[in-house]
Amino acid sequence: MVNYISNNIESMKDYVESIRYRVIKDGGNMPVASGIYCDECDEEYICIDDGLAEVGTCLNCGAHNDIAECERCGQYYHDYDGDEIKLCDSCKDYYKNE
Ligand SMILES: [Zn+2]
Ligand SMILES: [Zn+2]
Repeated sequence: MVNYISNNIESMKDYVESIRYRVIKDGGNMPVASGIYCDECDEEYICIDDGLAEVGTCLNCGAHNDIAECERCGQYYHDYDGDEIKLCDSCKDYYKNE
């Protein structure tokens, strides 16, 4: 299932870009997950700030991605399996090798 957020996706993208510029310059947190890319458009625009849009919404194309925050390292990742314990791939490997 793909959800599309209402109408102002273009202004969201501009907003993210303006924040990206500020974060590079002054530091701070991005409202999009770093290091994971939208399943639909392959862009790094997946929202993690629910004040902006629903978490998991791509601010580039509006597609909804199932993402979760890793309980161990705090990294966001694609949660394809919907596991009860939220671990990113590298943390899963870590526990497997223990
Ligand atoms: Zn997208
Ligand atoms: Zn992790």
